[in-house]
Amino acid sequence: MVGKNWQAGGKDLIPAQAFVCLVVTAAPVQAAWALSDNFAPPSYLGSIDPNTVWELLIGGIVVCSFLGAVALWIYTALRRFKRTQLRRSAFVSSALNNLSHGVMMTNAQNRVVFCNDRFFEIYGLTRADISKDMTGRDLIELRRKRGQVIVSFAEFVRQAREPEGYVTELPDGRSVITKLFKLPNGGTIGTHEDCTEQRRLSRQLASTKQFLESVLDNVPVCVAAKNIDDGRYIFANRAFERFSRLSRDAIVGKRANEIFRPETTASIEAADQAAVNSPDGQFSSEFEVERGSERRVLSSMRVIARNDKNQPEFLIALFDDITDRRSLSHELESTKKFLELVVDNIPVSLIVERVSDGRYLLANRSAEAILNRRREDATGLTASDIFNPREAKLIIARDEAAIKKRGLLVEEHPISTKDGLRLFLTRRMTVLDEAGDPQYLIKTHEDVTDRRQTESRMAHMAYHDGLTDLPNRAAFLQALSQMIEACEGTGEEFAVLSLDLDGLKEVNDVFGHATGDKVLIEVAHRLLASARGGVVARLSGDEFGLIIDGRQPVAGMLLAEQLAEALTKEFQIDGKSVRAGVTTGISVFPHNGADAASLLANAGAALFRAKAKSRGSISIYEPEMDQQIRDRRVLHQDLSLAIKNGELSLYYQPQAMSRHTVAASEIIGFEALARWLHPVRGFVPPSDFIPLAEESGLIVEMGEWILREACREAASWPLPLQIAVNLSPAQFMHGDVVSLVHSILLETGLSPGRLELEITEGVLIEDFDRGLALLRRLKALGVRISMDDFGSGYSSLSYLQAFPFDKIKIDRAFVINLGRNPQSAAIIRAVIGLGHGLEMSIVAEGVETQEQLGFLADEGCDVVQGYFLGKPLPIGQYAAMVGRNGGNTSEPARKTG
Ligand code: C2E
Ligand code: CA
Ligand code: CA
Repeated sequence: MVGKNWQAGGKDLIPAQAFVCLVVTAAPVQAAWALSDNFAPPSYLGSIDPNTVWELLIGGIVVCSFLGAVALWIYTALRRFKRTQLRRSAFVSSALNNLSHGVMMTNAQNRVVFCNDRFFEIYGLTRADISKDMTGRDLIELRRKRGQVIVSFAEFVRQAREPEGYVTELPDGRSVITKLFKLPNGGTIGTHEDCTEQRRLSRQLASTKQFLESVLDNVPVCVAAKNIDDGRYIFANRAFERFSRLSRDAIVGKRANEIFRPETTASIEAADQAAVNSPDGQFSSEFEVERGSERRVLSSMRVIARNDKNQPEFLIALFDDITDRRSLSHELESTKKFLELVVDNIPVSLIVERVSDGRYLLANRSAEAILNRRREDATGLTASDIFNPREAKLIIARDEAAIKKRGLLVEEHPISTKDGLRLFLTRRMTVLDEAGDPQYLIKTHEDVTDRRQTESRMAHMAYHDGLTDLPNRAAFLQALSQMIEACEGTGEEFAVLSLDLDGLKEVNDVFGHATGDKVLIEVAHRLLASARGGVVARLSGDEFGLIIDGRQPVAGMLLAEQLAEALTKEFQIDGKSVRAGVTTGISVFPHNGADAASLLANAGAALFRAKAKSRGSISIYEPEMDQQIRDRRVLHQDLSLAIKNGELSLYYQPQAMSRHTVAASEIIGFEALARWLHPVRGFVPPSDFIPLAEESGLIVEMGEWILREACREAASWPLPLQIAVNLSPAQFMHGDVVSLVHSILLETGLSPGRLELEITEGVLIEDFDRGLALLRRLKALGVRISMDDFGSGYSSLSYLQAFPFDKIKIDRAFVINLGRNPQSAAIIRAVIGLGHGLEMSIVAEGVETQEQLGFLADEGCDVVQGYFLGKPLPIGQYAAMVGRNGGNTSEPARKTG
């Protein structure tokens, strides 16, 4: 402005000066010419007539007057002009002096021609500092001396001529911006402006801008700004760079269509346009954009910035990539729905209550039965709104107890429902807030009515025998423990009875298991009836247990006798008469054991002894029974080493044709009998170690050794006598007895016809079908099978009918009783008749006397065996009989049978 005014003033001044200069130089010439014309006319005028001279003179006067008038006018005009000039000059300089800018002017010769007051003021100079003919360069040098200029003059001029000007930092901290302009007359005008405040502001602005930019750069939201005019981006923050995967340089200055795909551009432009059109200059939206191969969802907010004329100038876009958040929220939503579905369908009633006011916040479908209303109708209510005052009071008290406990509170109690009174298992769980205070109470109610019923049924099943409904072994042990607890230290006694039912196996076998079961049920009834309030339990198949208090062993003995008495009466089952007996072992508390297990074990030991004594007997536990059991255990261990240690051997007992005298009897073969020579105990009888071997399964290995040894021995005899070998039922149950026999026959080369296998009815009692099948296969090998100990057990005739035994061996108990009781003779006679009727030959065991031998010979018994004919001995003792070493041939005649 100042420059302009100054230049405008300059244009008027220059022609005025030029005019003055022109008049001043023309005036002396005119005046000189006028004077010479008055006083000495030029010589070329002498020849002119006087009229002409007058004319000339008058003309000259007129011209002079005119010229004088002109000169006067010019003079006046000049004065007026000068005054105007002065006024103008004073005005200009006062105007210049009053400018806020400093002004300094030089002429074409670079002499300083003008400095205004502000100039002096800015630089702390006086007019006296400006000497006559001082140049601009001198002035700069002066200012340099004062520390106001640091660059060279040329540099100063160069910078000051730039549009931005040259900035002088004055020692007192002020800043002055100098700009130089060339004047048309070759001079220069310089303007000096104090820009201290302006520079402070711009510095502040710059730092504010930087600050804002760094803020924008660090916000996680994408920020972009663009000119509304041309749609070009003018700013993009780092989040925008990251999202668009473009650098800021690639964004700024570009339009959307230059950096984005058409579809994305269209979305952006539509949102921009909506923001421009919106009355409040804002527009929020969500739209999809493409980024590479993926589509992203943006949540965008657009703000229009207006200029001072209220015209839209910039558009600021803020947006966020919400793709993940959105899919997350979809997921959350579906998870929520899923959980709601689960909660609603769990078969346990669930109620959530707010602790602060006790209001129900949530209830599931199952809870409707308890709340007696639809679940949605229950939310917002309290227990008092739903239940009757008595119930509500109880519920609230339990809720409060759970809240106080802050953990899990589990209770079982009846609740009345529309289905009647049901048993519920309630769990109350307090949920704490962040501060650790109770916030929610989660209550689950589980209807356990059915479960408890099942449990009690199962408990009954677990402790009761399904057939007789008597307590089982576990329940019996429990009852025993309770009894011990009650009697401990009181001096009171009680007895434990272990009962073994005799004859059940046979009943099962002859009449079938259904009958056997009915016998058991009836036995249970009779035992209960006779137990006089004592505990009765079924311990296993045919074993029962009883507890009886009172003075011992008297009370126990008495009860045992009564029970035996009760069972002697025949059982009438399905029109059949069945007999059963009982063998009893008794132990007494506290003398025979301090705990349930040992009391029962000792009653068992007494039973074992009773059974050994005789069926139907009663035995009271004695401490030495323990010893016997321990002995058995030790013996068993020894037996397992017996074969390996060569402690087993075979004795042979002769079998002969039945004749009236031994001399007349012919040896037909031998029975092999096992012997165990224990290194410490000496000979252990087979009646002791064979059952032991059977119990442990050792019999399989042992039986194999015996069979091989017997066959090997017999095969070595010169005479083809028979060899009888005992087979245990256990060998039929566990070993492959048929293959064993077959392979041993092959191995030893013994003719199958010489081998006779003695079995007891146990083989058929254990598993009739299997036993029968095996016997048939054995017989198919060509060996003979004999039924041992006939008459000692149940001796079912059906076995004789089922399998064609080659021989029946009458148990020696009958032979021994010959002559003592008449029945034995009758039985022997009958068995001989029966056997012959079935085409089986009869062997009588245990023949010890001439009388016995004579009776058997008379009765037509085929074969005899017994001490009278020869004891079981090592085969060496019978060398002659087997045809070795030319033995005594005067012995009974040998003949195969
Ligand atoms: P068992 O098979 O009935 O054997 C006959 C038993 O009667 C033998 O007893 C024998 O010594 C005995 N004895 C023979 N004659 C007389 C006599 O005139 N008077 C008396 N009082 N007894 C006589 P042992 O050898 O003690 O055998 C007893 C039982 O042991 C056998 O009875 C048999 O069941 C079993 N046993 C013996 N050895 C074996 C074997 O090698 N294998 C199998 N599985 N059991 C065997
Ligand atoms: Ca035998
Ligand atoms: Ca026998």
